[in-house]
Amino acid sequence: MGFDEIWQRQRAFFHTGITKSVAFRKTQLKTLGEVVTAHEAQMYEAVQKDLGKSEFETYATELSFIKNEVRYFIKNLSVLARPQEVKTNLVNQIAGSRVYYEPYGNTLVISPWNYPYQLSFVPVISALAAGNTVILKPSEVAPHTAKMIEELVNNNFPEGLFHVVSGGVEETTELLKLRFDKIFFTGSPAVGKIVYQAAAKHLTPVTLELGGKSPVIVARSANLKVAARRIVWGKFLNAGQSCVAPDYVYVHKEVKEIFLQELIKHIEKYRYEPGSANYSKIINRKNFDRILGLIEQDKVLYGGKHNIAELFIEPTIVSVSGWDEKVMQEEIFGPVLPVLTYSHLDEVFEVIRDNEKPLSAYLFTMDPKEKERFTTEISFGGGCINDTVMHLSNPDLPFGGVGNSGIGSYHGKYGFRTFSHQKAVMDKTTWGEPALKYPPYTASKMKWMKRLL
Ligand code: NAD
Repeated sequence: MGFDEIWQRQRAFFHTGITKSVAFRKTQLKTLGEVVTAHEAQMYEAVQKDLGKSEFETYATELSFIKNEVRYFIKNLSVLARPQEVKTNLVNQIAGSRVYYEPYGNTLVISPWNYPYQLSFVPVISALAAGNTVILKPSEVAPHTAKMIEELVNNNFPEGLFHVVSGGVEETTELLKLRFDKIFFTGSPAVGKIVYQAAAKHLTPVTLELGGKSPVIVARSANLKVAARRIVWGKFLNAGQSCVAPDYVYVHKEVKEIFLQELIKHIEKYRYEPGSANYSKIINRKNFDRILGLIEQDKVLYGGKHNIAELFIEPTIVSVSGWDEKVMQEEIFGPVLPVLTYSHLDEVFEVIRDNEKPLSAYLFTMDPKEKERFTTEISFGGGCINDTVMHLSNPDLPFGGVGNSGIGSYHGKYGFRTFSHQKAVMDKTTWGEPALKYPPYTASKMKWMKRLL
C-alpha cells in the first residue's frame, strides 16, 4: 500500500471521531502494553542482533519506559483529557472559559536506531493518549528492531489508527510530502532541519528531539567516587550511543588526577567486554570507522582497543587541550570520553554558551552556589546535579532539547500536551453585558474602559 493510501485511511479513521473517546484511547494503550509484554523475548532477540544490547539493558532503558508510560496514561488520562476551567476576566463577564485538549489529527513519528523501542513507542503512546492517529517510521539503521516494531504494530492495531512504515531517506522524504497535523522527530540536528523545512510547507507543528555535545562538569568539591561511577555508567551505557550521554568532561584541574583514577577503576569494575551483557556493540561499520577516527592514539589516557569483527570499541578516555581537536567538533555518540580541565567555572560556562545549546548538562559538586549558577546561567535541554542521564527517567519532568538540541518536549503530561492543540473557548451568557464596547464611543465610556482594561 502506498503512503498516500495509508495517510488517507488515517484521515478517514480520525474523522469518524472514535479517537475522541478516552475509553477507546485507554484500550489502545492497554493493547500496546500487552503486545510488548507478550513479545519481550522476540524484542530482546532483535535488539541483540542490531546493537548487541543485553536483556537487562533493553528492559531497563527501553521496555520499562514503554510500560511505565502506558501505566501513567491509563491512570491519568481521564484527568489530563478533561477540559480545564480557567478564570474569566472582568471585561468578559458574564461567561465561562475553558481549555479543550484537542487531538491534532494525523501524526507522523520518526525515530532513530539507538533506543529503537523506547524512542518509537514512548512518543506514540503520547500521540495515541491525546487521541491522534499515528504513522511511525522507525530507523532502517537498526533493521531487526524496525521489522519487529512493524510486525508488532501492524498485526495488532487498526491500520487507520496506528501503522508502521519502513524505509530510509527516500521513503521518509516521500512521507514528509504528505500533510500531517503534527510531526514528532527524534534524530540528528542535521536531519531535524530537513524535517522542519518539510513541515514548514504545510505549516505543520513539529517536535524535534535532537542531539549535540552534552557536557559534564566535575567541580573541586565533587564526591569524585560518585561522580566517576555515574559518569562511567551514563557514558558507556549502550556503548556511548545515547543522546543524553555525557559527551565530554570538564574537571577542575586540582582533582583531575584522582578523578581519572576513579574513572578507570570504575570502567574496569563494570567489565565492558565485547559480546558481554554489560556492553553493546557499535551499530554499524560506518559509525565504527567514524568513532575510531575521533581517537588520536597519542591522546589516549585509557582504552583505545577495538575489534572490527565484533564492532567493539573499548571504553576510551582521551585528553584534550582545545576545541579545535576533531573529537570536540562533533557529537561523539560512541564510547570515547574526552577530559578537559578548568580553573574557574566561568571558563566552562563561556565555552558552553559559545557552543550550540546541549540536550543535557551535568554538574558534580557539593557547593550550593555552583548548583545555583549551573541551573540559572547556562541553557540546556535538561540535566542532573550529581548524576547523569537519569533525569529522563522521571515522567514528571519534561524531556526535550533547546535550540540546536530540539524544539518541544514529552514524557507524561508533557507528551500529552505536545500532541494536543489547546483550544480556547469562551461561553457567554446572552444577558448582563454592559454597552461599553459598542459605539458610539463617548468620553464617559473611555473613562470606564480605562478602569476596566
Ligand atoms: P538520524 O537523524 O540520522 O535519523 C533519524 C531518522 O531520520 C531515521 O528514521 C532516518 O531514517 C531518518 N532520516 C535520516 N536521514 C534522513 C533524511 N535525509 N531525510 C529524511 N529522513 C531521514 O539520526 P540517528 O543516526 O538515527 O540518531 C542519532 C542522532 O539522534 C544523534 O544526534 C542523537 O543525539 C540523536 N538522538 C536524539 C534523541 C533525543 O531524544 N533527543 C534520542 C536519540 C538520538
